[in-house]
Amino acid sequence: MNRPQQITVLGATGSIGASTLDVLARHPERYQVFALTGFSRLAELRTLCLRHNPRFAVVPDERAARNLQEALRAAGLSTEVLHGEAGLCTVAAAPEVDAVMAAIVGAAGLRPTLAAVQAGKKVLLANKEALVMSGALFMRAVQASGAMLLPIDSEHNAIFQCLPSNYARGLAASGVRRILLTASGGPFRETPLAALDHVTPEQACAHPNWTMGRKISVDSASMMNKGLELIEACWLFDARPAQVEVLIHPQSVIHSLVDYVDGSVLAQLGNPDMRTPIAHALAWPERIDSGVAPLDLFSVARLDFQEPDVERFPCLRLARQAAEAGGTVPAMLNAANEVAVAAFLERRVRFTEIASIIDHVLNHEASGTADSLDCVLGADARARAQARRWLERGGR
Ligand code: NAD
Ligand code: MG
Repeated sequence: MNRPQQITVLGATGSIGASTLDVLARHPERYQVFALTGFSRLAELRTLCLRHNPRFAVVPDERAARNLQEALRAAGLSTEVLHGEAGLCTVAAAPEVDAVMAAIVGAAGLRPTLAAVQAGKKVLLANKEALVMSGALFMRAVQASGAMLLPIDSEHNAIFQCLPSNYARGLAASGVRRILLTASGGPFRETPLAALDHVTPEQACAHPNWTMGRKISVDSASMMNKGLELIEACWLFDARPAQVEVLIHPQSVIHSLVDYVDGSVLAQLGNPDMRTPIAHALAWPERIDSGVAPLDLFSVARLDFQEPDVERFPCLRLARQAAEAGGTVPAMLNAANEVAVAAFLERRVRFTEIASIIDHVLNHEASGTADSLDCVLGADARARAQARRWLERGGR
């Protein structure tokens, strides 16, 4: 029997972190937790450390590190507590690590995820924002280091499962006509357009099919999540934006499809539970139990599809434009969205103003090439500053 694989979970206190730890705990003979990281819910991180006994834990700052270190030592654990971005990069790239779950939300995950890629790890990518921001750099680093990048986003995991194993030779050579990216349409799919000005963060976070972190829940409600996923799909599968079509499928049972030139359309189906793509990527090319209930198609009964309404979901249009523009535009789109979503969650702006802020930033900030981390992070910082000025002015 081989030794268990050593797994780092970046963003262990989040929704993907919890699903990942659930799958890992089902297979102690295969996997051992090497490191767990958390940013805000540190009491939860302590509980997770007590349960999984990692070699390292990572927290945001020195004080938090001292507190957690003392608590864990008092409980008899030898876990070493690191802090800050340097700590995150250390546990992402440590030589003992076999696989890294990249599940920090937003741009904060970029450097640690890249550190895992540069160290040639098996990288399970949930942190789509990192790839959206720095796709060219990121994919170049994957090539250079020989890292194995496996998509966790349910749609991209589905596409990966529906593509032939040698799809890296190109979609056209693989006979792929289009990628069909499914979207639930979120909680506001049928809300009267006029009412969208008044929806609350609680309503936006009440997703009909998935339980997720607050940022991605708002992104799902605005369909910016699907826009980010469109950009993510272009990088992961070397597709042009025009080759990726978005369709609304309210049941979230088909997680995406691949349309081939011979008329075949392959789909991956399953209950909406992130433990399926997580287990798939962890064990790939094998299959392991994820704890997800078998899909009962009789109770699903029907599968519906609709074209997305561009008036209702302007973020989807903005993301497609950013995908087509390339360079630093996707990084700016992502940064403006992060500021706008945080402001919406703090009730400082209306839901419909999220798109207005992003539109404003993309119209007022110059873009450039995205061929170095400095270029990407510079564009990210300028877009955030421009979005904050919009907030200070109240949009006028
Ligand atoms: P979440 O908010 O539940 O968890 C986020 C994690 O990131 C937490 O552990 C938090 O402590 C950590 N974090 C936040 N800010 C940080 C910072 N500045 N520095 C270091 N760590 C920080 O989010 P989630 O729903 O688990 O999503 C995580 C990522 O996975 C996102 O990129 C999201 O788009 C992607 N994703 C999530 C789902 C899902 O079902 N939840 C599905 C597909 C993709
Ligand atoms: Mg998704």
